[in-house]
Amino acid sequence: MESSLIRTTAADLYDAHVMKNYARAPLTLVRGRGAQVWDDAGQCYLDFTSGIAVSALGHCHPQWVAAVQRQAGELIHVSNLFRNPQQAELARRIVGYAGPGRVFFCNSGAEANEAMIKLSRLHGEKKAGEEGKCYKIIGAKNAFHGRTYGSMSATPQEKIQKHFRPLVPGFAFAEFNNLQSFADLIDDQMAAILIETIQGESGVVPGTVEFLRGLRELCNRHNLLLLLDEVQCGIGRTGSFYGFEYAGIQPDAIGMAKGLGGGYPIGAMWVRETAAELFQPGMHGTTYGGTPLACAAALAVLDVIEKEKLLEHVRAASVGWMEALQAMARDFPAQVLAVRGRGFLVGVQLASDPTPYVAALREGGLLTPSAGGNVVRLLPPLNATREELARSVEIFRTVLKAKA
Ligand SMILES: *Cc1c(COP(=O)(O)O)cnc(C)c1O
Repeated sequence: MESSLIRTTAADLYDAHVMKNYARAPLTLVRGRGAQVWDDAGQCYLDFTSGIAVSALGHCHPQWVAAVQRQAGELIHVSNLFRNPQQAELARRIVGYAGPGRVFFCNSGAEANEAMIKLSRLHGEKKAGEEGKCYKIIGAKNAFHGRTYGSMSATPQEKIQKHFRPLVPGFAFAEFNNLQSFADLIDDQMAAILIETIQGESGVVPGTVEFLRGLRELCNRHNLLLLLDEVQCGIGRTGSFYGFEYAGIQPDAIGMAKGLGGGYPIGAMWVRETAAELFQPGMHGTTYGGTPLACAAALAVLDVIEKEKLLEHVRAASVGWMEALQAMARDFPAQVLAVRGRGFLVGVQLASDPTPYVAALREGGLLTPSAGGNVVRLLPPLNATREELARSVEIFRTVLKAKA
């Protein structure tokens, strides 16, 4: 009995029992510290996946671990039938970053976007004076908003929607970074515009300043809500707390998750004060949302971002890193078409399928996710050191040379 247990690897158990809905790398990770993770054979990797932009402080930051341990021994979950001080404080801190308004807590990015979609229905009902008349949302082509029915319906990608139609009605799609194409779709049934400030999954494509400002004006003119999905680009990843700050605009709602909990699942929707009263008791909810443990984890993330000045660090360290990546692109023009992004949200666009490159980078000691449009994404933790950033470029260069 014992020996058979020892011989059964995680890989065997995955093969036998875990749903086959992911294409996983052949790697079992068992331990992490900062930007490093180790597999079950003791091999160390530089982790620029960060659990897909989640582990904002790297793995097992001591202050985050202490906060979660302390809270786990104090109070873990009570539901939203009651108040808890951690949720109250986290809402105050988010309002401090986002502006006057209110916060709804959930557990993931898709749920934050679902809440924004439901918010748009409430706004449309108020606008038309009647339910079901004004309910449409304009989204962007190549967007990614999640895998639940509402968020998937807002995600116009064949590979994600195929097999699962019919979808939630009411979504129309325009060209990202093409303001006129959004303007062309506006009619009396439109309630909101929903976009990622920086399209992440489809290849790290930042919205231009003119585009984002233009959407804000369009929404003002037609009484539409501007809903920004900041699930990937928010919480310091670009070097400002929210990704949209470079455009100097104020959205009506923000969906966030990923980096917010630093590895513990939490999502949130912030709604500007002008729309914050649309949700009334009973209209929306989730059992786990804003539970003390999740909020304590998120508060620790915000505390460390502030105490260690990580926004300043991302802004400063990303300059030299981006220069080194651009130099790499110039040295390998046949393989690297472009490097783009902001702060620690970077995409290296290759001339061919990134899958073999991602595998070679892994074998070279660097974990990275790919993205649409032949892109390799680089998502270091916000506290990655300049040495770790430089090392990622070294490994990337070695792989490009070997594949040249
Ligand atoms: C990851 C992601 C989501 C979905 O978040 P989940 O937590 O996986 O539901 C939504 N929007 C964007 C921009 C994302 O990157």
